[in-house]
Amino acid sequence: MLRKLIATRLTFIVLLTTGITTNMATNSVDGQTQVEPKTALRMLNAQQQQFQQKVVKVADNVYVAVGFHGANTSMIVGDDGVIIIDTLKGPSSAAKAFEAFRKHSDKPVKAIIYTHSYGDHIGGASAFVEGETPDIYGTESFGSAEGVNKAVSTVKAKRNLRQFGRDLSALESTNRGVAPAMTADHDGGKGYLPPNVTVPNSGLKTTIAGVEIEFHIGPGETDDAMFIWLPKQQVLFAGDNFYSSFPNLYAIRGTAYRDVLSWSESVAKMAEFEPRVLVPGHTMPIRGKEQATTALKDYSEAIGSIYKQTVNGINAGKGPDQLAHAVKLPERLRDKPYLIEYYGTVPHAVRAIYSGLLGWYDGNPTTLSPLQPKIKAQKIAELAGGTKNLTSQMQAALEKGEFQWALELSDHLKWLDDADRKLARKVKIEALRGLAAREYNAPNRNYYVSYANELESGRLSELWF
Ligand SMILES: [Zn+2]
Repeated sequence: MLRKLIATRLTFIVLLTTGITTNMATNSVDGQTQVEPKTALRMLNAQQQQFQQKVVKVADNVYVAVGFHGANTSMIVGDDGVIIIDTLKGPSSAAKAFEAFRKHSDKPVKAIIYTHSYGDHIGGASAFVEGETPDIYGTESFGSAEGVNKAVSTVKAKRNLRQFGRDLSALESTNRGVAPAMTADHDGGKGYLPPNVTVPNSGLKTTIAGVEIEFHIGPGETDDAMFIWLPKQQVLFAGDNFYSSFPNLYAIRGTAYRDVLSWSESVAKMAEFEPRVLVPGHTMPIRGKEQATTALKDYSEAIGSIYKQTVNGINAGKGPDQLAHAVKLPERLRDKPYLIEYYGTVPHAVRAIYSGLLGWYDGNPTTLSPLQPKIKAQKIAELAGGTKNLTSQMQAALEKGEFQWALELSDHLKWLDDADRKLARKVKIEALRGLAAREYNAPNRNYYVSYANELESGRLSELWF
C-alpha cells in the first residue's frame, strides 16, 4: 500500500517548453478540470507561452509588455509624449518594463491610465514618473472593488497565498493560469499613485499627446473597470475583462459577487468595435480583426451562457451542487484556446452565480438546519459499521484514486475521538496531491498543493485539518 501511496504522489516535473499551444482535448469529467497528470502538465506548460517576457509591437507606436509581472502594461507613443496603460504590481517590475519600452521612445510620460483598481495593474505607477506627476485616469467608481470584505482580510490573505501558490517551491510551481509563478512581489503596491483625472460614467473621448483615445466604462471582473479604444490604430485594451482563459467569474481566494451579466455585456460591447488588435489585461495580444472580434464574441457568449444555464436551472428548482456538475460551456466553445479553464472554472462560476443571486440557502428544507459536523461524522461512522470501517473505506478510496471521496471521508474522521487522526491527515495530504497532479486549473492546483504542504508542516490547526 505504501508503494501505491508513493506512486500516487504528485510527481513534479520541471516544465519544459514545448510547441503545443491550442486545441488540446480537455476531457473534463463531469464539469471538473481533472485529466491525466501528464496532460495537465502539458496543458499548463502550453499556457506558459501566453506570458513569456517580451515587448510586443501591436501597431505603429503601440507596444505591450507581457510577462514582466503578472499583468500587462502598454505604451502608446504620441507626438510629444507617451501614454501608459496599467502599471504592474510594483515599481521594480514596472521599471524593467519601462526600460524595455524606452528602447522604442524616450518621450515623457503624459498620462497613465488604470483599466481597473486591482493591485497587479496599479502598484507600479511611480516607476513611469520621471518628473512632474502626469495625468492619471481612473473611473468614477475607482477602488470600489477593494473596499469589500475587509473584515475577513486575515483569511483572504491565506487563501490568496494558496490560490497563487506563493509559498510553493520552484519544482512545485507551474503558473497562475493567466500569469507566471514566482513574480517579484516584495514591493507590491509601493508605487501606487491615485488617479487625478476622473473618467465620467458616460465615458470620455479625448486627445492625449496627439493620440485620439476613447475611455469606455465596462464593469466586469471589477465594477470600476473600463476599456480603452484607439480609433485610428483600431486597438482595444480590454483590462481584465478579457484574457486567454475561461474568466475568473469567482476567485477561490474569496471575493464578493462579480456581476457576471454585466461582464458578458461589457465584452459584447467591446466586440462591436471590431478591433484589429485586442490587448488583454493578462496574456498575449490577439491580432487580426476577425480573430479579435470572434474571441470577444465567444467570450461574451460563454459568460452569458453559463449565467443563463444557471438561472434556468435555479428556476427549475436545482441546487448549486447539482448545477455545478450540470452546467457546461456550449460544445462549439469548449476547445477555444481562450476559454480553457486555466484560471476561472465553470463549476466555480455556477456556484458564485447561485449565491450571488440567492445567497447560501439552496431552497431545500433539509439544508435549513443541517447536523453539526461532529454529529454527522458519528452517524456516518455508525453507518459504515464503525470508525475502523470508515477508516478502511478512506484508505481504499485513496488506493483506487478516488481522491475527492478520500478527502470527504478524512474530513469526517477528523471529528471522531476514536479515529486515527494522524492517518486521516496523511490520507488527506496524499489525496490533495493526487488531485493536484491531475488538475489543469492553476488556482485549484496551487490551492491543493499549498494546502497539502501546510498540513504536512503542521502549520494548520486541528480545526483546519
Ligand atoms: Zn489582473
